[in-house]
Amino acid sequence: MDNDQNIRIPEKGMAQSEVLELLRSYKKEDINYKDSKNWSLVYYLGEEHTRFLIEAFSSFFSENALNPMAFKSLKRFEHEVVRMTANLLNGDSNVVGTMTSGGTESCLLPVMTYRDLAASQRSFRAKKPEMIAPESVHVAWEKAARYFGVKMVHAPLRSDLRVDVDAVKKLINKNTILLVGSAPSYPHGVIDPLAELGALALEHRLPFHVDSCLGGFLLPFVEKLGHRVPPFDFRIPGVTSISADLHKYGYSAKGASVLLYRNMKYLRHQFFVYENWPGGIFISPALLGTRPGGAIAAAWAAMKVLGMNGYLDLAQKVMQTTAALQDGIRSIPGLEILSDPEMSVFAYQSSSKKINIYAVGDQMEAKGWQVDRLQRPAALHAMVTPLHERIIDEFIADLKQSVEKVRNDPSLAAKGNAALYGMIARVPLRGLVKKEVLKMMEKIYGPDMIMPY
Ligand SMILES: *Cc1c(COP(=O)(O)O)cnc(C)c1O
Repeated sequence: MDNDQNIRIPEKGMAQSEVLELLRSYKKEDINYKDSKNWSLVYYLGEEHTRFLIEAFSSFFSENALNPMAFKSLKRFEHEVVRMTANLLNGDSNVVGTMTSGGTESCLLPVMTYRDLAASQRSFRAKKPEMIAPESVHVAWEKAARYFGVKMVHAPLRSDLRVDVDAVKKLINKNTILLVGSAPSYPHGVIDPLAELGALALEHRLPFHVDSCLGGFLLPFVEKLGHRVPPFDFRIPGVTSISADLHKYGYSAKGASVLLYRNMKYLRHQFFVYENWPGGIFISPALLGTRPGGAIAAAWAAMKVLGMNGYLDLAQKVMQTTAALQDGIRSIPGLEILSDPEMSVFAYQSSSKKINIYAVGDQMEAKGWQVDRLQRPAALHAMVTPLHERIIDEFIADLKQSVEKVRNDPSLAAKGNAALYGMIARVPLRGLVKKEVLKMMEKIYGPDMIMPY
């Protein structure tokens, strides 16, 4: 695929128009989010809102939030975003926090912070600190465990896919530095029993983080709409920190999330100061050095332009669309929704031995839908956004056809991606799966960029 032309910086710079045309031309094979064919990755509200975000972003395109003193505008936006989010999540005036580049950073940092908090306590002598999180916790926490040398201890789920609090209780030991719960969980869209986890955290004097990356800017409005939403935020006494992604249901530009702590006693351990660097005394509030000003400004702008009424309207659309989609899925013989009650992120699986859900996924992909596959159990995944309202009927009709096709042709389970996913699911040695996937990554990131498909 490579030729000399695209592996070297062009000898002579190209015309701007030519470069922009090339950029656009490469989009052809990307997933089609503008027609709402995607069920993850992009939270698109249409061209008008996007153009607004672009303008907000570009007016701080070059600004850098590395140094909070240099661009007072950015520090102000960050401060206001943190305060607005703290209020939304029922925090009091002691709640503090930082903006981050996204959900992953908002999950990585608490692990580092609480590890160092534990290490600062003289009573804590653990050689290998541990954190306890549900099996369904977002994978960013696994990454955090690996990056920061904290052992991940998984707590099993109950049959309703929420974490088993008794199991968490039994897993707590003297090495435990942190409990985590999700609001809601990414795979299944259910809220863990957070009040009980909070009580447990208080009882054992442990920090407790609620990963509300997905729900932080959605659940408060779903609750206001009268849906059944258990408490998930700072109203729970034991909660010490919460993450909430602006670039998901906050409808901001990518690169924006908020990480809040109940008070400075915790956030203090997140700050990085190095006083001996020849480059000067260095301070950094979060993971990144250079922090793009555009993402911070656009996040602030999104909150201001949408307002509580805007977020409420969008949440209503999302929940109505979710209800319609779930009704449609339930009306198809052979399919079922894994979770209850309705949440705008959910998984659906096959309830019939005759229907391989991954083969259904392949059929949907052939019809132009981008669907994500879950494992344990095998399921497909949806993250509903307001514009999905437009495609409910089309999606359900396509899904129905896909299910029928798979029912009538069981050999489809042995073809395409279904075969691959099926094979991966059956391999008992997970280490082997990991090895193969690592090999694939070496190909994708190798000098020749070999894509698997
Ligand atoms: C999306 C998500 C994350 C990670 O966020 P990124 O922005 O993709 O880095 C973490 N936790 C939950 C619950 C999420 O939904």
